[in-house]
Amino acid sequence: QKVQLVAAREERILVLVRLRPLSDQEIVANEFADWECINDSTILYRNTLREGSTFPSAYTFDRVFRGDCSTKQVYEEGAKEIALSVVNGINCEYGYWHLASIFAYGQTSSGKTYTMNGITEYTVADIFDYINRHEERAFVLKFSAIEIYNEAIRDLLTSDNTQLRLRDDPERGTIVEKVTEEPLKDWNHLKELLAICEAQRRIGETSLNERSSRSHQIIRLTIESSAREFLGKENSTSLAASVNFIDLAGSERASQALSTGARLKEGCHINRSLLTLSTVVRKLSKGRQGHINYRDSKLTRLLQPCLGGNARTAIICTLSPARSHVEQTRNTLLFACCAK
Ligand code: ADP
Ligand code: MG
Repeated sequence: QKVQLVAAREERILVLVRLRPLSDQEIVANEFADWECINDSTILYRNTLREGSTFPSAYTFDRVFRGDCSTKQVYEEGAKEIALSVVNGINCEYGYWHLASIFAYGQTSSGKTYTMNGITEYTVADIFDYINRHEERAFVLKFSAIEIYNEAIRDLLTSDNTQLRLRDDPERGTIVEKVTEEPLKDWNHLKELLAICEAQRRIGETSLNERSSRSHQIIRLTIESSAREFLGKENSTSLAASVNFIDLAGSERASQALSTGARLKEGCHINRSLLTLSTVVRKLSKGRQGHINYRDSKLTRLLQPCLGGNARTAIICTLSPARSHVEQTRNTLLFACCAK
């Protein structure tokens, strides 16, 4: 496999903000929606009276999506170009291991999983469409899924609880040793695998949100291709590219002072990975100055090749419009501002 990780980074991180609608429960509970997208790039806080004049009330990003935007729209207008850069990455001329990542950052219940699952599905559908239109080459699309919880990595496609280790690979950068890589048959197969991941994440927890608020989930699609006439031959050059879909731990964990014991340790780990991530993101957005401590957390160590070099990155910051969540919403927007 001919692989080169190119050092120069030309593109900055794409920062998208998605506001979800008030949920039925929130409406029943007489919640107010205090945030409003006033155009395609600006989100506004409307309850300025309550907050006083020092609180900035308008925030501008590459793109903001209102509560009534569909995930399809978020995909088409925000994530598609980056997600599908992997199929361009395997177009012969490049010849390096092309990487793309899409992150979801936000507090628990703000819509990270809702957004990420939808975007993963649309991406897979488009990749299969691409594969079907390029019959001159043979393609394999592989799916893997891991969870990082308390700095321990677990395979979400197997039921055994063995911790997986990270290894530095000279060609592919940091990789997860022995992770299950399942060749995807079709879009329905993807739905099955996503359901398996969800079931694995639920184990030992009373609700999915309880677990997912404290762990990061990383789904990786790897697409490999080779010219049909060289298939299976010793010296066939195959090309490969990966796209990561990263459903981060609830961002409230990064700011919450957690009480005792296990929760405290957990809080520290989540803190460390989200804080390291925000440091990385901040430095990248400022043109890679200074030293970046990727090794400070498993998350950033694993994603290091995806955060620099030729990699493409989008961060989707998900927001709740509810008045009771204003503090967390503001924290998420501050993170988003650092990234742009
Ligand atoms: P998170 O992963 O950030 O904890 P979820 O994705 O689980 O949040 O979303 C919480 C709830 O809100 C779910 O029931 C989900 O279906 C719903 N939801 C999230 N975003 C939207 C949206 N943009 N439109 C409609 N419902 C949404
Ligand atoms: Mg979730």
